[in-house]
Amino acid sequence: MTAPTITLVRGDITEQDADAVVNAANSSLLGGGGVDGAIHRRGGPEILADCRRLRASHYGKGLPTGRAVATTAGRLPARNVIHTVGPVHSASEDRSGLLASCYRESLRVADELGAATVAFPAVSTGVYGWPMADAARIAVAAVRGTETSVREVRFVLFDEAAYIAFQAALAEYA
Ligand code: ADP
Repeated sequence: MTAPTITLVRGDITEQDADAVVNAANSSLLGGGGVDGAIHRRGGPEILADCRRLRASHYGKGLPTGRAVATTAGRLPARNVIHTVGPVHSASEDRSGLLASCYRESLRVADELGAATVAFPAVSTGVYGWPMADAARIAVAAVRGTETSVREVRFVLFDEAAYIAFQAALAEYA
């Protein structure tokens, strides 16, 4: 196991040609807005069917924050979707350990799948309100600190501001 190469792209997570793409899911696993909505829309109903099965078999109370689980990727170019539940940002409580856990746990699941390339969105930076620069530092540090067989971790950033934040975080950890 070695540290994966980290690459940054501006784009849409649903278009990524990677072994696995990560979904910024919510704990219900039943879909939502943002990345979650886009993945289910483009990937088709097979993903939701898998999510429902997982809920019924393992996560009746929902997937806990910071954890990750894999399903089919349906019609997406990827082989699998790894659903992870980011923490809602809080000004009064430090939840950065939970955000780091999303990346670590997703890579652990990717290892179980034998995935060589994994594409991540900027988890928790949309509806869940995490400031981009801070989320980028946590994401890069978490990936850098994880032992994994994944060879490429690709951060897929939706807009220029997110891309710049991740570039800065990568430069800090270079
Ligand atoms: P969360 O609920 O974890 O905050 P969101 O899906 O609301 O997740 O947003 C996470 C980040 O993903 C935001 O920065 C948002 O701009 C970005 N985003 C939204 N749609 C896409 C997409 N299709 N591909 C990549 N990133 C996306």
